[in-house]
Amino acid sequence: MINRPLFFANWKMNHGPSEARAYLAAFLNFFAPHDDRTVAMFPPALSLTTVRDTRANRTDILLGVQNIHSQEKGAFTGENSAPMAHDAGARLVLVGHSERRHVFGETNVEAASKTALASRFGLTPVLCVGETLAQREMGDAERVVIEQLTVGINQIGPAAVAAIVIAYEPVWAIGTGHTATPDDASAMHRVIRTTLRELAGNGSDRAPILYGGSVNRANAKTLLEVEGVDGLLVGGASLDPEGWAEICRT
Ligand code: PEP
Repeated sequence: MINRPLFFANWKMNHGPSEARAYLAAFLNFFAPHDDRTVAMFPPALSLTTVRDTRANRTDILLGVQNIHSQEKGAFTGENSAPMAHDAGARLVLVGHSERRHVFGETNVEAASKTALASRFGLTPVLCVGETLAQREMGDAERVVIEQLTVGINQIGPAAVAAIVIAYEPVWAIGTGHTATPDDASAMHRVIRTTLRELAGNGSDRAPILYGGSVNRANAKTLLEVEGVDGLLVGGASLDPEGWAEICRT
């Protein structure tokens, strides 16, 4: 995946099945297939099959799920499992998104279990890491990110690490309109790349590292040009199909 930029859209809790159908039909009109980039949508789980069916033969658009449970099946009311997500058309899954960590209290160990489970069931984990503003201000950003990464991949072997995607999403940049400066983003992407190499060898160079946090039409190009940034994970600015298509053409 690393040889081409990745554009991943996290719809969060927006666009139920009816809206998702209309969104996708519009997006497909705005965005012709491109073989030099990878585009993926992460709709709410309830809209996955609608997006899959509306996508029809546009299989250049990949599908992901925003979360899975850390176990394969069982008495977990309200949860979705990795095999169910795969059955509904997902081929990727967000793991450890900042809202999962900070709103729902997800731990690094849970993120590790989900990463391992996803890899077993044919879903590429997109392991999200990032520090809070307080952690950055205390000079703790690198330590936090290295720990999220180290624990997050500690249940999978080097070959599986080479097949995952990492997203660096500083918590203070998500949905706030503030983005990391190119220098800060590039420095943290370098830390992530070095840590991956130390933990899983040079094969991990195949794992792309995305940047996320208040990416929009105006700043997408600048952020994509930052050294070490292999793609973008976009929340709010992906909710409008025309704007998202423009970002995907960056
Ligand atoms: C996200 O949800 O992963 C995200 C980066 O959101 P936003 O683009 O709205 O900051």
